[in-house]
Amino acid sequence: MKNKVFILLTALAAAFVITSCGSANSCERCGATPTKAFVNAMTQEKEYYCKDCYSECAFCSQKATEYYTSALGIVFVCPEHYEYILEINS
Ligand SMILES: [Zn+2]
Ligand SMILES: [Zn+2]
Repeated sequence: MKNKVFILLTALAAAFVITSCGSANSCERCGATPTKAFVNAMTQEKEYYCKDCYSECAFCSQKATEYYTSALGIVFVCPEHYEYILEINS
Protein backbone atom coordinates (compact mmCIF):
# COMPACT_ATOMS: atom_id res chain seq x y z
CA MET A 1 0.00 0.00 0.00
CA LYS A 2 2.66 2.48 1.05
CA ASN A 3 4.86 1.30 -1.78
CA LYS A 4 2.15 1.85 -4.32
CA VAL A 5 1.67 5.44 -3.22
CA PHE A 6 5.39 6.05 -3.40
CA ILE A 7 5.55 4.73 -6.96
CA LEU A 8 2.57 6.86 -7.93
CA LEU A 9 4.18 9.93 -6.37
CA THR A 10 7.42 9.30 -8.24
CA ALA A 11 5.58 8.90 -11.51
CA LEU A 12 3.63 12.10 -10.95
CA ALA A 13 6.75 13.99 -9.98
CA ALA A 14 8.43 12.83 -13.17
CA ALA A 15 5.42 13.98 -15.16
CA PHE A 16 5.58 17.43 -13.62
CA VAL A 17 7.72 18.79 -16.39
CA ILE A 18 7.33 22.38 -17.33
CA THR A 19 8.85 23.67 -20.50
CA SER A 20 9.36 27.33 -21.18
CA CYS A 21 8.82 27.13 -24.92
CA GLY A 22 5.03 27.17 -24.68
CA SER A 23 4.55 30.92 -24.54
CA ALA A 24 3.02 31.10 -28.02
CA ASN A 25 0.17 28.80 -27.06
CA SER A 26 -3.01 29.96 -25.44
CA CYS A 27 -4.40 28.54 -22.22
CA GLU A 28 -6.58 25.41 -22.61
CA ARG A 29 -8.97 26.72 -20.02
CA CYS A 30 -9.35 30.46 -20.57
CA GLY A 31 -7.39 31.24 -23.73
CA ALA A 32 -4.94 33.62 -22.05
CA THR A 33 -1.21 33.90 -22.64
CA PRO A 34 1.56 33.42 -21.63
CA THR A 35 1.27 29.77 -20.76
CA LYS A 36 3.28 26.84 -19.51
CA ALA A 37 3.18 23.34 -20.95
CA PHE A 38 2.08 20.41 -18.83
CA VAL A 39 2.22 16.83 -20.05
CA ASN A 40 -1.08 14.98 -19.94
CA ALA A 41 -0.20 11.58 -18.46
CA MET A 42 -2.95 9.85 -20.40
CA THR A 43 -2.36 11.21 -23.89
CA GLN A 44 1.33 12.08 -23.40
CA GLU A 45 0.52 15.33 -25.13
CA LYS A 46 1.32 18.80 -23.90
CA GLU A 47 -1.43 21.02 -22.64
CA TYR A 48 -0.93 24.72 -22.08
CA TYR A 49 -2.22 26.69 -19.13
CA CYS A 50 -1.76 30.27 -17.99
CA LYS A 51 -0.54 31.27 -14.53
CA ASP A 52 -4.04 32.03 -13.28
CA CYS A 53 -5.22 28.54 -14.16
CA TYR A 54 -2.24 26.47 -13.08
CA SER A 55 -1.71 28.30 -9.80
CA GLU A 56 -5.18 27.85 -8.36
CA CYS A 57 -6.47 24.64 -6.78
CA ALA A 58 -9.47 23.14 -8.59
CA PHE A 59 -11.15 22.30 -5.28
CA CYS A 60 -10.46 25.37 -3.17
CA SER A 61 -8.91 28.80 -3.56
CA GLN A 62 -5.48 27.83 -2.25
CA LYS A 63 -2.36 27.99 -4.36
CA ALA A 64 -1.93 24.91 -6.53
CA THR A 65 1.52 23.35 -6.39
CA GLU A 66 0.74 19.95 -7.90
CA TYR A 67 -1.23 18.57 -10.78
CA TYR A 68 -2.55 15.24 -11.88
CA THR A 69 -4.18 13.89 -15.01
CA SER A 70 -7.82 12.97 -14.67
CA ALA A 71 -10.14 11.48 -17.27
CA LEU A 72 -11.15 15.04 -18.09
CA GLY A 73 -7.64 16.38 -18.45
CA ILE A 74 -5.07 18.02 -16.23
CA VAL A 75 -6.26 19.20 -12.83
CA PHE A 76 -4.26 21.61 -10.67
CA VAL A 77 -4.43 21.13 -6.92
CA CYS A 78 -3.01 22.40 -3.64
CA PRO A 79 -0.89 19.99 -1.53
CA GLU A 80 -3.90 19.21 0.67
CA HIS A 81 -6.16 18.17 -2.17
CA TYR A 82 -3.32 16.41 -3.96
CA GLU A 83 -3.01 14.11 -0.96
CA TYR A 84 -6.75 13.64 -0.97
CA ILE A 85 -6.67 12.63 -4.63
CA LEU A 86 -3.83 10.20 -4.01
CA GLU A 87 -5.82 8.70 -1.17
CA ILE A 88 -9.00 8.11 -3.16
CA ASN A 89 -6.99 6.70 -6.07
CA SER A 90 -4.99 4.25 -3.98
ZN1 LIG B 1 -5.98 30.20 -18.18
ZN1 LIG C 1 -7.24 22.65 -2.56
